[in-house]
Amino acid sequence: MRKPSIEMGDCVLCEICVEVCPQVFSLNDLGYVDIADRKQYPEDCVDEAIRNCPARCISWEED
Ligand code: SF4
Repeated sequence: MRKPSIEMGDCVLCEICVEVCPQVFSLNDLGYVDIADRKQYPEDCVDEAIRNCPARCISWEED
């Protein structure tokens, strides 16, 4: 299964991914981006986040 992954060291916390794909990305209490645990991830939505991430730190990972 493919799962999105974030290179947290590069993330600038702009929250664009949270805006374009809130079913997957959210900001946690510590102020970092969390990825929801899902059986399947919506490809369009995650791809949109990947395209719009200014730090280019979101990618797909194979499980
Ligand atoms: S869009 Fe990229 S840089 Fe912005 S919060 Fe999400 S992962 Fe971080």
